[in-house]
Amino acid sequence: MTRARRVVLKLSGEVFGGGAVGVDPDVVAGVARQIATVVRKGVQVAVVVGGGNFFRGAELQKRGMDRARADYMGMLGTVMNCLALQDFLEKEGIETRVQTAISMAQVAEQYIPLRAIRHLEKGRVVIFGAGAGMPYFSTDTVSAQRALEIHADIVLMSKNGVDGVYTADPRTEPDAVKLDTLTFAEALRRGLRVADQAAFSLCMDNGLPMLVFAAEGDDTIVKAVSGEKIGTLITA
Ligand code: UDP
Repeated sequence: MTRARRVVLKLSGEVFGGGAVGVDPDVVAGVARQIATVVRKGVQVAVVVGGGNFFRGAELQKRGMDRARADYMGMLGTVMNCLALQDFLEKEGIETRVQTAISMAQVAEQYIPLRAIRHLEKGRVVIFGAGAGMPYFSTDTVSAQRALEIHADIVLMSKNGVDGVYTADPRTEPDAVKLDTLTFAEALRRGLRVADQAAFSLCMDNGLPMLVFAAEGDDTIVKAVSGEKIGTLITA
């Protein structure tokens, strides 16, 4: 029997905040509805949650904070997003588990990869929080790492304000063209910033495809998870 499709969905903090600081419950409810739709179809979904709607370590560092401490604040921010998503998924009738890379037993399990796989096999959504538990990392890189460790088929990177990878920044270059496909080597060579370079490298070295697509819209997550034509597919 072939295994069910297993995906890692990266949701940036911007998705949770609806563009503002904090969590917008209406937006999270919409995301949860889409995830519930694909889980009901039998897709195994793990989510890596960002935290930019609360804190980004690099930004706090610029304002005088110690980088590592600021990064821990960033990681703790991701966990609030995890709990919000968990809540709305449970309201959809989907069983969930939050696993964090920093122990906080009252609200989440520890990150235990084999247990995460078991949850997925039982149809639960696993929500990964607190990034890698290590400063100087990003949740983009963690998405690639978690996807590799739990043997996901693809990393789905939802992005705010952009619906794929362009030849140049479409906000400043009107002639920029959206690419349907791309290789990681090309993305690295061109210095494309749509995901961070460490994430590209991990995917390239291990043959893990990545789909970059727009977070906005009522059904973009459903389309991305279902393998419909959307965004830009990056492969090795
Ligand atoms: N972070 C970290 N290590 C990790 C993941 C995240 O230090 O493994 C911190 C870092 O400060 C980062 C913040 O958490 O800026 C929020 O994560 P990220 O910027 O990746 O969130 P997103 O941009 O996706 O909302």
